[in-house]
Amino acid sequence: MPSFALQGLGVSSGIAIGRAQLVSHATFEVAHYSIPAGRVDGEIARLDHALTEVRAELLGLHGAMTAGDAPAEFSAFIDVHTMILSDPTIAEVPKRLIAEQHCNAEWALTQQMNVLVEQFEEIEDAYLRERKADVVQVVERVLKRLLGKPGALVPAGAEQHTILVAHDLSPADVIQFKTHRYAGFITDLGGVTSHTTIVARSLAVPAVTATHNARALIRENELLILDGTNHVVIVNPDKAVLAEYRAKQGALDVERTKLRRLKTKPATTRDGHLIELQANIELPDDLVQALDNGATGIGLFRSEFLFLNREGLPSEDEQFEAYRSVAAGMDGKPVTIRTFDLGADKQKEGLDGLARVAPNPALGLRAVRFCLAEPRLFLTQLRAILRASHYGRVKILVPMLASISEIEQTLVLIAQAKDSLAERGVPYDPGIEVGGMIEIPAAVLAISAFLEKLDFLSIGTNDLIQYTLAVDRSDDAVAHLYDPLHPAVLKLIAMAIAGAARARVPIAVCGEMAGDPQLTRLLLGLGLRNLSMHPAQLLTIKQRVLATDVGALMPFIARMRRLDDPAKLVAQLDKLNE
Ligand code: PEP
Ligand code: MG
Repeated sequence: MPSFALQGLGVSSGIAIGRAQLVSHATFEVAHYSIPAGRVDGEIARLDHALTEVRAELLGLHGAMTAGDAPAEFSAFIDVHTMILSDPTIAEVPKRLIAEQHCNAEWALTQQMNVLVEQFEEIEDAYLRERKADVVQVVERVLKRLLGKPGALVPAGAEQHTILVAHDLSPADVIQFKTHRYAGFITDLGGVTSHTTIVARSLAVPAVTATHNARALIRENELLILDGTNHVVIVNPDKAVLAEYRAKQGALDVERTKLRRLKTKPATTRDGHLIELQANIELPDDLVQALDNGATGIGLFRSEFLFLNREGLPSEDEQFEAYRSVAAGMDGKPVTIRTFDLGADKQKEGLDGLARVAPNPALGLRAVRFCLAEPRLFLTQLRAILRASHYGRVKILVPMLASISEIEQTLVLIAQAKDSLAERGVPYDPGIEVGGMIEIPAAVLAISAFLEKLDFLSIGTNDLIQYTLAVDRSDDAVAHLYDPLHPAVLKLIAMAIAGAARARVPIAVCGEMAGDPQLTRLLLGLGLRNLSMHPAQLLTIKQRVLATDVGALMPFIARMRRLDDPAKLVAQLDKLNE
């Protein structure tokens, strides 16, 4: 088998060696295979079983919708899906295809879906034409049942020797891999800080994204070396290369063991600045990894992940339990819960405002904008967070703020949520702190108004870079333009820090810049004392903090703040890191 290498973006460092397991997004790349004549009835029964399961799933959903506080359009949407599922074009035709063509159930279903989508595209009425998206979603539900959960991908015990190779997965798809211990992760697409990339990074295994055609070139079970540090994947390595990488892997393991000794050591710089190193988490279970790596708090709980990969919306009680478990688990250390940031690359089916394909999703109804458009959903979450605040040190963090009116409206809703809990006699922390994410340049340029209304700030550099440079963070075609060291980005970060310092309002960074050891000294030099990152990065960054003298950085930082030439900035950063 020929050996070759693929370049990508090394989004999570380290070396993985293992066998390729190709992963598909349900609708796009289902397996095509022939069924022997004797197994045709069994294949039809398999499809029948999946259809029955989805029917039950939709029925359950409908019940939950009418009982909970989901918007009315959600149950109408479930009704449409139930009708589509029972229509003979979905319920019967694919079975006929299996019988006639001896193809597998997934193949039959996607063939029929393509026929239906084509028919819908010819309809003149725009409303009816758009219903093709519902057909696709129903088929996806059935395919998911047929394909099983990702857990069924490889036999138990083989996970540590398996590298997942995917074309393009949503953040919701990737998060399902968190409960597994795969050796590494490769995708064709994904910008430097797309949420798919961020979740891939949080799997705490080496990962390379934006390889463009790994999924097409790599075959099932081929031997792979994934070098996340050097952004490369080697397919079918020869013996000498394999031996070299095994040696490198061994050296990295020794390094990692050394780092573990830093777990309980305070992150104090050489000149005595104590730095808060906190964790970014997506789900309550991530708490274990955060504590294991010595996090002094949760700086960012991306609560929207509770809304993904599930039927319907999490109720107030479910959300409360998730937030309470993290608050209690952190044992008095701060837990910053970001109100849900759905939209852009984190979609949730069934919510009208999001279901519409926005012309520019990242500039559309995302995060706090969506929350304010759906106050009922927002209030449910705010009540759940407030209830959890009784069990730990909880803070509320509001994403994507651009204008003061969004803060004012949010504060009114928080007051309403408090009132309704008080009426019910439910305890909560009346002094709960409310902070804002600084991730839109407008928020930095108008920061004084923000500082008057908020208790703390957290700079979301992933979006701040995207919105400052007009570079879509999830588009690998412009990944080379996505530059944390762009002079405009550094100026905005410095401005935000200076504004917060003047107003004596605490400020942190929770974007991916916080977990990049190349940037630690720069951020400390700019005045940051609180960094929040993926748990897997915490000890590496602590090691960097311990080796830094902030006072000695100041002349370099002063020079960097005056520079407008990116090449000179990079050269200065190198000096800073010497
Ligand atoms: C950010 O934008 O930097 C951030 C931390 O939030 P997210 O990556 O979830 O958009
Ligand atoms: Mg953001």
